[in-house]
Amino acid sequence: MTGGSRGKAMQEGRSPTATASAEWHGRNVLVTGGAGFIGSHVAGTLSEAGANVTILDNLQAGSRDNVADYSGSLALREGDVRDENLVSKILRETRPSHVLHLAANASVPGSVENPVYDFRSNCVGTFVVLDAVRTVCPETRVVVASSGAVYGEPSEFPLTEDSPVAPISPYGASKLGAEVESRIYQSVYGLPVVIGRIFNTYGIRMPRFVVFDFLKKLQADPSRLEILGSGQQVRDLNDVSDTVNGLLTLATAGVPGEAYNIASGSSCTVTEIAERLLRVLQLEGTSLHYTGESWSGDAQHWEVDVTKLRALGYEPGVPLDDGLARVAAWFDARHGRR
Ligand code: NAD
Repeated sequence: MTGGSRGKAMQEGRSPTATASAEWHGRNVLVTGGAGFIGSHVAGTLSEAGANVTILDNLQAGSRDNVADYSGSLALREGDVRDENLVSKILRETRPSHVLHLAANASVPGSVENPVYDFRSNCVGTFVVLDAVRTVCPETRVVVASSGAVYGEPSEFPLTEDSPVAPISPYGASKLGAEVESRIYQSVYGLPVVIGRIFNTYGIRMPRFVVFDFLKKLQADPSRLEILGSGQQVRDLNDVSDTVNGLLTLATAGVPGEAYNIASGSSCTVTEIAERLLRVLQLEGTSLHYTGESWSGDAQHWEVDVTKLRALGYEPGVPLDDGLARVAAWFDARHGRR
């Protein structure tokens, strides 16, 4: 992408750095959850690389606006991944070379509030997608979006894919269930399914999580920032364009049946994230306040090893300060100036 088009992409709220190689040109790809935050960047990146992208999304959290500005071939089908007939019909019609399965309840607090929707969308929805691929197009490569939440509250770092899994939220459990189904469909039926364990992703169009929460609070009151918990929680924040590159790396090069961490590989505390954001926003004198208690299901420490994904060619490329500046500019444009 040229400097000029990068600037245009940023203004339009698109991902300026995710890249998809020429090999996607002319391919049919199904992106479930493609009207959501990460899925819209995946779908947009692929459509601009010349792929014919079909999105299946029930718009529970996503929106048409998220993909409205992309050029390229992109069709949004409004529907649910739990609908077996619909999923099979779309697969029969589009015969995709790849399915990137991101449709899910993606909110940990949301899973605590509504564990039934979480289980049905994340676990049953994944099962429906896998089984439809098995019956309609078993050669199709599938990437299943899992989460770092499967590790729960680990005590040994950095986390590798061999670290024990022990979820602490309904969301972590439903994602682990989706992983188990994926492995079974790979080992029993030979489906080429790869699992991506995504860690905290931030960026343009993000609907939640710490950076978004901070921006919202600072917009309401730039003099004071409330931080949930102690501020000592350790996070690995990955820019959405790097997460997209991780998912596309898995789509083309991931080993079926394997799980891969998708993260930046570097961590900082929540207080450091707040301080960096305040510097980026050039806010001086904002006082930090801590609630002490965090929300249910909040893990305290993430430090992630991405060696396995790097071995496939993945290289996270967006420094945190650059990514924060980008997301702050988007937030200003979208939600009004602080
Ligand atoms: P998001 O909520 O923006 O996107 C999820 C999309 O799935 C939404 O557009 C929603 O409308 C759609 N959806 C939900 N239930 C559906 C259903 N039953 N049928 C069809 N569509 C449905 O969330 P996101 O942050 O973009 O997350 C994308 C994927 O990445 C999810 O699988 C999520 O669990 C995973 N993930 C995200 C993060 C992160 O930091 N954002 C971290 C770990 C894992």
